[in-house]
Amino acid sequence: MNYTYLILAFAGFGLLSTSLSAQNDYLTNKSESVKNFTRIEQTYPVAIVTEPNTTNKPKNVIFLIGDGMGVSQVFSGIVANGGNLHLKNFRNIGFSETQSASDFVTDSGAGGTALSTGERTYNGAIGVNADTVAIQNIREKAELRGKATGVISTSSITHATPASFVAHQPNREWLETIAADFLKTNIDVFIGGGSKNFTHRRDKKDLTVDLKQKGYQVAYGIEEIAKINSGKLAGFTSDYHNKSKLEGRGNELPIATSTAINILNNDPDGFFLMVEGSQIDWGGHNNNTGIIVTEMLDFDQAIGVALAFAEKNKETLVIVTADHETGGFSIENGNFTTGSVMGNFTSDDHSGVMVPVFAFGPGADLFRGFLKNTDIPKIISELSGY
Ligand code: MG
Ligand code: ZN
Repeated sequence: MNYTYLILAFAGFGLLSTSLSAQNDYLTNKSESVKNFTRIEQTYPVAIVTEPNTTNKPKNVIFLIGDGMGVSQVFSGIVANGGNLHLKNFRNIGFSETQSASDFVTDSGAGGTALSTGERTYNGAIGVNADTVAIQNIREKAELRGKATGVISTSSITHATPASFVAHQPNREWLETIAADFLKTNIDVFIGGGSKNFTHRRDKKDLTVDLKQKGYQVAYGIEEIAKINSGKLAGFTSDYHNKSKLEGRGNELPIATSTAINILNNDPDGFFLMVEGSQIDWGGHNNNTGIIVTEMLDFDQAIGVALAFAEKNKETLVIVTADHETGGFSIENGNFTTGSVMGNFTSDDHSGVMVPVFAFGPGADLFRGFLKNTDIPKIISELSGY
């Protein structure tokens, strides 16, 4: 045995596990449960939007996923914003059962895959079925129908939820392999963290070179990203995961949402866009009410951007749901005037409860009542003709 190789192998494994564990920090950062939170910013105004009265099929779809967003998470946002959210504009509301093929309580890989493909799979899977065979997702179907497509996330863009709309891998932890899968698609816009999974890789490749060769504008930071209004865009907002809202992420998510809509809407065939509010989930894992509330309000402001576009456009279906609930979060007391929320938790992991589904625009009434997570992409596909 050549000891140099052995040492190198260990060093390599060390690097891999360090970067992986750094990217799973959101699961383990918990210092102490922070149950109470009081509003720190001004409440924001919520416009009343008019739902188009149409029997036409949707030309565009904006699919917003609040990772870990159960009913309590939504209500914590309502209380903290003084009684109102953009979400309150929705009239077509249902519930989604989130169980995966392997577990009563899903992870975000199986949850994202159910929402992207309409098939239940095992926890940890990304865009593959229970036999690890790749399944086409709704973004790919939209792409094949000639529509422009995009994916936005407040985590690394290779993380489970956005990955489920792009990649096909048996293991959600294979972040660099997932990054390489972006090159196998013709996705028009992606905005999120995780640039290092494209540039600092064990195979020494710099995938941003390949992205540029494929015609992508590769932009770093939300200011640079927001300047782009046409063409293909790979927008990176951080090396790995983005900061939390409390740590100063600012309005990256609503800005990214309007930037993506603006670019994708250039396509006369219409578009499909997935937007993830990733870190509502992390507030649940950390048993931190403040993270939940601030991430919920940030996600709601992205929803406001989508609704404002859909109201004017009249051919856009907006769906908001979650992959699962996180934290077994409950609200024991609160105050609409001060915006304070007294939360509590039954778990630092996901829970198995139903999550809400909100729909607006052409076909929205089909999302009422009790659904399974897998019904949602199937209805989107049927309505959109892909
Ligand atoms: Mg996620
Ligand atoms: Zn989670």
